[in-house]
Amino acid sequence: MAHRTSQDIRFLNRFEVMQRFYADGGARTRQELAAATGLSFATVANLTAELIDAGVLVESGRLESGGGRPRALLAVNAERGALIGVDVAETSVRTELFDLTLRQLHVMERPLPADGVAPDVVVAAIEAGVDAVLAATGTPRERVLGAGVSVPGLVEREGGVSTYSPYWSWRDVPMRSLLAERLDVPLHLDNPLKASTLAEMWFGGGREVDDLVVVTLRAGVGAGFAIGGTLYRGATNSAGEWGHTCLVLDGRPCRCGSRGCVEAYVGTRGVIETLRAVAPADPLAHLPDDAATLRSLALRAADGDSVATEVIARTGRYLGAAVGSLVNLFNPQVIVLGNQVMEGLGEQLLAATRSALADHALAQPLRAVDLRRSALSHNAVTWGAAAFALEGFLGDRELFGSVSRTRAARSRTK
Ligand SMILES: [Zn+2]
Repeated sequence: MAHRTSQDIRFLNRFEVMQRFYADGGARTRQELAAATGLSFATVANLTAELIDAGVLVESGRLESGGGRPRALLAVNAERGALIGVDVAETSVRTELFDLTLRQLHVMERPLPADGVAPDVVVAAIEAGVDAVLAATGTPRERVLGAGVSVPGLVEREGGVSTYSPYWSWRDVPMRSLLAERLDVPLHLDNPLKASTLAEMWFGGGREVDDLVVVTLRAGVGAGFAIGGTLYRGATNSAGEWGHTCLVLDGRPCRCGSRGCVEAYVGTRGVIETLRAVAPADPLAHLPDDAATLRSLALRAADGDSVATEVIARTGRYLGAAVGSLVNLFNPQVIVLGNQVMEGLGEQLLAATRSALADHALAQPLRAVDLRRSALSHNAVTWGAAAFALEGFLGDRELFGSVSRTRAARSRTK
């Protein structure tokens, strides 16, 4: 923390105040904000004045306060501008438009070709998605405060480069410059692990805790970390590639070229591999649609089908062992399990994982952790990508810097 400047602390306090509004979308008095954040009333008054000047917050009403002066209720100004969240997944590109309260205004999903997708195909799909959501809602481009784009694999965030994508064997693709030529809005590039974690920090299981792990289980597997309330990135933004840590020595081959990775057991393909191991002739083991396979497995398990029950039990044992390492390493308050595999196998997989976790985590950190499914009411990746754009906007030194300067100048002339 020694490196933090007062400017950084001001940003962090601004985020802290703004996060309270996104907790439930409700209005807040300055007194409530001070109590919820632990900041002084004077600091909150200062920060909210700045946010009102920038048009981010508005007075939305008054709260009578038992004899005293009524207190102003503040709320996020939905009309201040729009945010875009893009999730580039293995088989599709999903583009969503939100207002500043992060309410979805429109969504567009475009399929990608089955394999060998070149960067310009993805760039064109993103451009078409953005054009479509803006046109459908009649939103002028200059109202867009920023767009967050999640691309799979490793991302060098500062330069906006997709350094490695396991799906399409991309290396060092300058995604942000390719997109900047076409989109003309502030762009923030990152990956699904970071986006999902940010979504949980702003809107989900991470709102009330500082130490959080968010486990993403879809075609790709990984973990995101909030440590002391801050998204942890590592030296080169590649922290969280837990999906490619070894779970089984000399185990199943993994897409990354190694063997026995966590992803090869608990990713979408991994679950289907387990099904093939349990019942090679089962018709479900050879369907083309992985998401549909997961849903059918869950339905069969709910009916007591022995093959499906065994697949979920085995997946839970793998996941419990792998999550046990996270518990021992990070000692988090909350671990959120989310995305396609969890949505498909849900409570049954959670129960199997919990029971296996007890065999792999140390008793003390295990007692401290709450393992739960994601309760986000929205797609974690697009929401988190939009939250990157929101953070970029809230961290805009020019906007808030100039507001502070104006205020300072005004007070000096009083
Ligand atoms: Zn791997």
